[in-house]
Amino acid sequence: MSAGGVPRGNTPKDQLPFIRRNATLLAELPEPGEHWTAEIIPDELANQLTGLENKQIVTFVDEVTQSKWKKPRNLWKTDLDAYEQIHDVLEGKDRDGLLPCGHSAINNERGVDGISCGVCDEVHARDEIDHNRGEVA
Ligand SMILES: [Zn+2]
Repeated sequence: MSAGGVPRGNTPKDQLPFIRRNATLLAELPEPGEHWTAEIIPDELANQLTGLENKQIVTFVDEVTQSKWKKPRNLWKTDLDAYEQIHDVLEGKDRDGLLPCGHSAINNERGVDGISCGVCDEVHARDEIDHNRGEVA
């Protein structure tokens, strides 16, 4: 794949639902244009880089070696369209709000009974959302 990126229209169907479910976590990804290794992102993201690549949220750039490292590491970059989508979701600009409050950023907080919104912090019952759009895993 060239540096020009993947043409729009080829975005995997599961990308947007995934971004909505994980927007607050995905916001930790570095800005597009930066090349980075897994060690600078949260483990929760680093553990699923292959999945993120399949959803075209990150792109593999190259392998890098440094004498202090035992083995080569992968260099990644954040996909521009996905990055914009993550921030649109977090800023409440995602027009088909997934949640009853009209936002789409799902905050998977532990210890919260239901799903809390990453934009306004309102907590919604899980079934309320499943019936709404059917996109929540
Ligand atoms: Zn909200």
